[in-house]
Amino acid sequence: MGRSMRQVRHLLVVATNSVSHSVSVLPAQYFDVALVDLDGVVYRGADPVPHAAQALRRARDAGMTIAYVTNNAARTPQEVAAHLTELGAPAQPNQVITSAQAGANLIRRTLGEGSWRILAVGGPGVSAALLAEGLQPIHSADDGPHAVLQGFGRNVSWTDLDEVATAVGRGVTWVATNPDTSIPTPRGHSPGNGALVQAVSLATGREPDFVAGKPYTPLMEDSIARTGARLPLVIGDRLDTDIEAAISTGVSSLLVFTGIASTLQVLRAPVFQRPHFVGVDLRSMFDEHPPLHQTPVGWQVGDARAQIVGSPAQVQLWAPLVTCAQWASAFRLLCHVAWSTDADYSTALAQLQGALAHLGDGSAR
Ligand SMILES: [Mg+2]
Repeated sequence: MGRSMRQVRHLLVVATNSVSHSVSVLPAQYFDVALVDLDGVVYRGADPVPHAAQALRRARDAGMTIAYVTNNAARTPQEVAAHLTELGAPAQPNQVITSAQAGANLIRRTLGEGSWRILAVGGPGVSAALLAEGLQPIHSADDGPHAVLQGFGRNVSWTDLDEVATAVGRGVTWVATNPDTSIPTPRGHSPGNGALVQAVSLATGREPDFVAGKPYTPLMEDSIARTGARLPLVIGDRLDTDIEAAISTGVSSLLVFTGIASTLQVLRAPVFQRPHFVGVDLRSMFDEHPPLHQTPVGWQVGDARAQIVGSPAQVQLWAPLVTCAQWASAFRLLCHVAWSTDADYSTALAQLQGALAHLGDGSAR
């Protein structure tokens, strides 16, 4: 966790200009499994994201396997699936893959078979994941834990953190479910699991031995193994979790603008957080994502064309922006120009932001 692990990992990421591919792609037909993030993609807090449930049903009916891949370790897969079903999304508990499950699986593989005692901190999802792996959740550092699994839960207290710190101080293997430092709430931001993990880090001078959730790879690798995916597509709303995890795992990704990421963030994204595809929302699984072509004067994606003019250099964009598919082509084109040149793209970005405000549900930036 923390900076050092991230830096090491980033050295392993192969530099990629992610938007390039040579053929038109219709994601729902091209990919066999969708690894879908939840908050900001299917729902926002208690509210459904417009079009999401319907698009997921359509993808399922088109033969795609849908799995929900979430850093949220507090809830059990049963609870998550019940919530999704309420929203109309196709979801059985075995389609929900949590960072608590990935953390428990990682501990079981690290320790091997056996009736190991694991200090469990977090919501019901943490203990449930350990039990499902045949591990025994315990709650005191004095009961001789063989490992610690630390995840988020609304009732996690100082006493729980004290148990983690005591076990960690004694050298017990420490696994964190996910590194998210904050949780968005209607009132602002609350401490997430990463913040509680850092409290223990500050107290003990240690960092977790493993982090299961996005942007680290165990959760993605588990999701691919469990679904038997040959050609998975990661779909998410955050660059620093969903897209980075996809790139670190070496799989394709689709960023949707129904959650956290803004258009400006994507244009400024470092190479290890650049999505392959972009879409206004989940309906973009059924849109053509045409290849990028070089033209005599610039570049083209679908009907969108761009070139660099003037001094200082500016990006000039010509694109019909009536449909979501046209918008996605134009934005992917602008991504290519922004990621490969130093030209000023502010006018083209304003054009695309204006269109997105009409095409999206009003939350996108
Ligand atoms: Mg999200």
